[in-house]
Amino acid sequence: MESMEQRIKDFVRQQGVEVVGIAGPDRLDGPPSLDPTYTMKGARSIVSYILPMDVEAIDAYLGKKSYVPHNLDQFRKNIRVNAIGDLVAAYIRTLGYAAEPVKANTTYRRSLYPFSLHPSFSHRFGAMAAGIAAQGWSGNVMTEEYGAANYIGTVVTSAVLASDRPRYGPRHFVDGWCRKCKMCDKVCAARMFREVEEEYVLVNGELHPRARRNDINLCNATCFGLHAISPDRKFTSWGFGWIRPWMKKPTDRMSKLSVIGSFLSRVFTRGDSGPRFQMIATLGKAYVPQEHLQAWFDRRPERLPYPERVEAFRELGEKIGVKGLRSDRLLTCGQCGLVCGPTVKESARRFSLLARSGLAVQNAQGEMVVAPTYEKAEEIYTERLPGLTFWDLLRDCLALVSLILRNYTGLEPRSFLGGIVYEARRRKAVRLRIAGHKDARPASLPHPAIPSPRSALPPAPATRRDEAARASA
Ligand code: SF4
Ligand code: SF4
Repeated sequence: MESMEQRIKDFVRQQGVEVVGIAGPDRLDGPPSLDPTYTMKGARSIVSYILPMDVEAIDAYLGKKSYVPHNLDQFRKNIRVNAIGDLVAAYIRTLGYAAEPVKANTTYRRSLYPFSLHPSFSHRFGAMAAGIAAQGWSGNVMTEEYGAANYIGTVVTSAVLASDRPRYGPRHFVDGWCRKCKMCDKVCAARMFREVEEEYVLVNGELHPRARRNDINLCNATCFGLHAISPDRKFTSWGFGWIRPWMKKPTDRMSKLSVIGSFLSRVFTRGDSGPRFQMIATLGKAYVPQEHLQAWFDRRPERLPYPERVEAFRELGEKIGVKGLRSDRLLTCGQCGLVCGPTVKESARRFSLLARSGLAVQNAQGEMVVAPTYEKAEEIYTERLPGLTFWDLLRDCLALVSLILRNYTGLEPRSFLGGIVYEARRRKAVRLRIAGHKDARPASLPHPAIPSPRSALPPAPATRRDEAARASA
């Protein structure tokens, strides 16, 4: 007779999933966000599964044809991941055990520093623990089938399940593909990653390497659309704007205070940061009534011209309790994951699409248009949406602050203390690993890679403002 583990995995595969694995109690030792009991009391094991992103939609997104197909793919696949989670949890319950699906990672633990954004359960760490994926240089988890362009789902259960043997060792990708690639580093407008320094996540007693990261707010701001332009000013993500101080100075040389200062000063110039953040959270953690989503899909957003498309999205928002949306884009980057294909060659192809795509820029009507050069983009670029008053900005600022205070700020003793214990264990493991290494730094090791391609980037040209400042000096 088939084991329970095999029956569960067969059931997941019957839902059209190719990559699935299990981590039992012996393989769930790691950061607090790998603790399944946070999601469900008494949880002992997890089932982790992965779906691929739509590559045509990625091509359209990176190649600046349109962001809409990838946004729709995100919506549809997240719905599918959630639906599969419901079915798998229900199936496990028929076997006599409690089970719960984990929602998409927009449910964060409360923290005294709410920008740290620690998820209730990390799908990525879950996939690593279940042995179906390993970290790449960007810290996104990868499989040989899909690269890092994937969506991950998790179900937690009270069943004590036998763990799968990991498909990949912790350094599988970082020492393999990543040494020849580093495309994720090249596509990051915020310069989130150090060029050749590693840092580690401790999971099941093993150090899992990834690029040493700069301040997480660089990614928070860029993913939220506040900064979009590459350091060499040759391409952009689909973000709304540019953070000028980040264009002038390498962000890895900026203090934490100046990073967060410039992030916050930009977030309050949009006028719809509160509703957008609320929409991301609502779509991620709640089951949005199917009829509302279907009505929106039925309007074929990919075919609607700009103002109607935003109007359709705004109507969807109002139906699910989010008022004041001014754009149909929620997350605008994700490029480090999107560029990462199932071969180094494929990642290089995707990077080349992005590098040649031009600069997406917000015009005076609020529409995103693509400019061929930085100089042209500067001519078109408007920092503020049209028609915004001081009161609109103030209202949005208060809405966002209240959302963050109500939902993400606070002290959760279990997560807080668990984090301290985990960090002490991680540091000790890193110290043991790097002891004696001649280039060792306290928390990282150099990655013996080929030089990062970004070293070869030309110096950034001066902005119109730089020139104006020089002229008036
Ligand atoms: S894009 Fe390249 S370097 Fe980055 S994680 Fe993927 S394979 Fe590794
Ligand atoms: S999501 Fe965008 S900003 Fe964040 S690390 Fe990836 S490329 Fe950089």
